[in-house]
Amino acid sequence: MAIERIVDPSQDEDENLPEEQKIENVLRPKSFDEYVGQDRIKKNLVVAIEAAKKRDEPIDHVLLYGPPGLGKTTLAQIIANEMGAQIRVTSGPAIDRAADLASILTNLGEGDVLFIDEIHRLNRSVEEVLYSAMEDYAIDIMLGKGPSARSLRLDVPKFTLIGATTRTGALAAPLRDRFGMLHRLEYYTPEEISQIVKRSAKLLDSDLHDEAADLLSSRSRLTPRIANRLLKRVRDYADVNGDGIIDTVSTTKALELLDIDAEGLDPADRMLLRAIIENHGGGPVGLNTLAAVLGDEVSTVEDFYEPYLMQIGFLERTPRGRKATSKAYKHMDIKRSKGDESDSSPQTSLI
Ligand code: ADP
Repeated sequence: MAIERIVDPSQDEDENLPEEQKIENVLRPKSFDEYVGQDRIKKNLVVAIEAAKKRDEPIDHVLLYGPPGLGKTTLAQIIANEMGAQIRVTSGPAIDRAADLASILTNLGEGDVLFIDEIHRLNRSVEEVLYSAMEDYAIDIMLGKGPSARSLRLDVPKFTLIGATTRTGALAAPLRDRFGMLHRLEYYTPEEISQIVKRSAKLLDSDLHDEAADLLSSRSRLTPRIANRLLKRVRDYADVNGDGIIDTVSTTKALELLDIDAEGLDPADRMLLRAIIENHGGGPVGLNTLAAVLGDEVSTVEDFYEPYLMQIGFLERTPRGRKATSKAYKHMDIKRSKGDESDSSPQTSLI
C-alpha cells in the first residue's frame, strides 16, 4: 500500500521523514476525543484548559510521568492544540548548558508550550535556570567571569512547561514542586488497547478483525506504542503472506515470527527472567547484573522491562534486588528448586 495515501493532510508533510515517522504522525491522536483512556487525567486537563482560556492565561506547568509509550508526548501535543498554542519539543539530555535553555526560553512566544521529555535527565545548572523561569517568567544569566562578572535578569514570555519522565523519584524536589499539575499515566486496559489498534487500523486503511484486535491487545504490554508497533508488523505480514486481511490466523503467525509470547513478553524479557531464575536461584539480583545480562542500560531495565513485569506480577522489587515470582516460574515453565527463595509477598508495585 502506498504510504502517501495515509498521510494526514493536516500534518506538516515532510517528504524527507522516514515512512515509520509518517505513520507515527498519522496514528498520533490530535484531540482529547481521539485519545483513548486515561479518563481522570483528561477530565482534569479539560478543566484546567477551560479555566486558563477564560482567564486568557497559559495553563499551569504539567508533569506527566509513567512508563514509556503510554502517551505522554501525545498528551502534551493535545494540550498545546487545545490551548491553540505552539509547542516546542526538546529533551533533558539535549539541553547541555544553561545558555541553551536560556536561548530556548527567550525564543518562546507568549503562551507557548515547552515540552521537555526525560526531564529527570536535565543537569543541575540547567535545572536552576528553569526554576525562576517557571516561577517568575524570568531568568538570571551571568555575564563575564571572575570579579567583573555580573548577573542580568531577562524576562521570558509566559509559557507552559510540560515535563515528561519515566521516574518522578529521579526528579529533584524543587523542580517537582514547581509543577501545578502532576499526572501519572497508568497502563491501559486490554479493552482500551483493542480500541486503539482498531482506530489505528482504520487510519492505516487495514482490514483488522475484532478477534485479531483482541489478540494483538493481549500481547501489547498494555502499552499503545507497542500495540501500534505490533499492528504495523502484523499488517506487513498479512500484506506479504496473504490478502492483507488481519485475522487471528495471520496475527498468530506474525506474533510467532516476532517471538512474542502469550503475555506479550519478547525474547529479552524472557532472557531477563531466565537469568534471575536459573543463574541466581530466583533472586534477589541487583539491577546492574540484570542490565549486564541484557547488554542494556540500567535505566532501560528500570524504565522499560521492570514496570510491566511488575505490573503483571512476574517480578518483585525488594531492598536486596529483583526477584522472580511463582507466576514467573510458571510462565517460564521452570520448577522452583529447593534453594530458591519464594516470593515474600504477592503484591506488586509500580513505583
Ligand atoms: P510517551 O511519550 O509516553 O513515550 P507517546 O505519546 O509517544 O508516549 O505515545 C506512543 C504512541 O502511542 C503515540 O504515537 C500514539 O500514536 C499512541 N498513543 C499513546 N497514547 C494513546 C492514546 N491514549 N490513544 C491512542 N493512541 C495513543
